[in-house]
Amino acid sequence: MSAQLTYIGLGSNLASPIKQVRQALFELSMLPLSRLVAASSLYASRPVGPQDQPDFINAVAALETHLSPLALLDQLQALEQQHRRQRQRHWGPRTLDLDLLLYGNSHISTPRLSVPHPQMTARAFVLAPLAEIAPSLNLHQQPITNWLAGIELPGLERLPDA
Ligand code: ATP
Ligand code: CA
Ligand code: CA
Repeated sequence: MSAQLTYIGLGSNLASPIKQVRQALFELSMLPLSRLVAASSLYASRPVGPQDQPDFINAVAALETHLSPLALLDQLQALEQQHRRQRQRHWGPRTLDLDLLLYGNSHISTPRLSVPHPQMTARAFVLAPLAEIAPSLNLHQQPITNWLAGIELPGLERLPDA
């Protein structure tokens, strides 16, 4: 199969989140059968769901891969485990969250994997970094810039490049 262009959303709000996200970007660049083609800036964002937890650091990476969607999800979940992610409450704090946002033009709807990620068009901390590295992308036949224009950005802050 030819390589697919995929986008991965990264998030962390525990144990030095900036380091967690930078390290995860490096680890994504080392995944088998894959090549990291772009990485956004880092963004600080307010948590989704429970507010009594630290702010998040987010970013989006573009990965060209020969891995199947489920094989890629396996790799992402293994990286989350490597970062000692513990699953506690839903949308609670975590050292690393890796969401598969897009996998080429595929639509996948299985218990383990929904692609495009169902929440991505409602989340500024996904849309802003994604638009930075893929400004001409369409999501559900709409330019990403339209989605971004229709969403609230307060609480989202792009961090200066290191
Ligand atoms: P959200 O998906 O709303 O961002 P979350 O990231 O906190 O919430 P998790 O606890 O990380 O949710 O993941 C729960 C399950 O979601 C995973 O075990 C995984 O099988 C499933 N899942 C479904 N679609 C995706 C996807 N596109 N990317 C990553 N995981 C997914
Ligand atoms: Ca998530
Ligand atoms: Ca997740």
